[in-house]
Amino acid sequence: MRIAALSDRAVIVDGSVAIDIETASRGRFGPAIAGLYPDWDEFIDWASDPAAWADAERTEFDLRQLGAPSPSPRQVFAIGLNYQEHATEAGLKGAMPDLVIPPTFTKFAASLTGPYGELRLPSSRVDWEVELVVVVGRYCDRVDAGAAWAYVAGLTVGQDFSERDIQRLGPVPQFSMAKSFPGFGPTGPWLVTPDELEDRDDLELECVVNGEIRQKSRTSAMIVSVSDLIAQLSAICPLYPGDVIFSGTPSGVGMGRNPELYLKPGDEVVSRIRGIGELRQLCVA
Ligand code: ZN
Repeated sequence: MRIAALSDRAVIVDGSVAIDIETASRGRFGPAIAGLYPDWDEFIDWASDPAAWADAERTEFDLRQLGAPSPSPRQVFAIGLNYQEHATEAGLKGAMPDLVIPPTFTKFAASLTGPYGELRLPSSRVDWEVELVVVVGRYCDRVDAGAAWAYVAGLTVGQDFSERDIQRLGPVPQFSMAKSFPGFGPTGPWLVTPDELEDRDDLELECVVNGEIRQKSRTSAMIVSVSDLIAQLSAICPLYPGDVIFSGTPSGVGMGRNPELYLKPGDEVVSRIRGIGELRQLCVA
């Protein structure tokens, strides 16, 4: 099932049409998508019986009206160096060591935005990072990896735009600030429930700038899998319904190239995961 935020209302996406959830459920769920997460299990129970919304009105929609699938999470986690080739291009020598907790930072909520639109470049050092984003569907405290998928509401596409000067200003890396300018955290275009995907642990993802493939990998190459991430994060921080996890980016970022390459006004960034969908950002000065 695909769930989206359309003009600030929660909808089920069925092919090219949307079904308004509050209307179809006669006020039981919605109107906003953020309101679904605290009652996610009940919502899925209702929504997974198509007879429940078979007679509901279907409306065509414009993709540009879509917002972030979880627009106001209580917590946003972002994982660094979760693909070996990216760890190498980022300067780590040898294999990533086994860690109890992977490198973790946040993208402050002010950076979150929907799947389509303009990205205002605050400098000439803005980089791209396509990522699988996990949205939590149940309160989750110290869960085992084996049970972790049951706590996932769904998956979506994310782009972890990063300003590399601020990130490297020192005396220690400033990941959270460097990755939190307005518009630096687009997600979408919708939430896809894990049962929709043939293999939820092996999704092809890519980032294309001006038609040129800059990143291409599969989520099966992640060093810490989605279930292990949920186990390791929830060992310290309980996770809440609607929480968002940016799960790390594969190799091919601009900082890893020689010479380094960054986004400039006029560039179009497409971030895509097969089986989920794509984001599109047009860079402006
Ligand atoms: Zn990232």
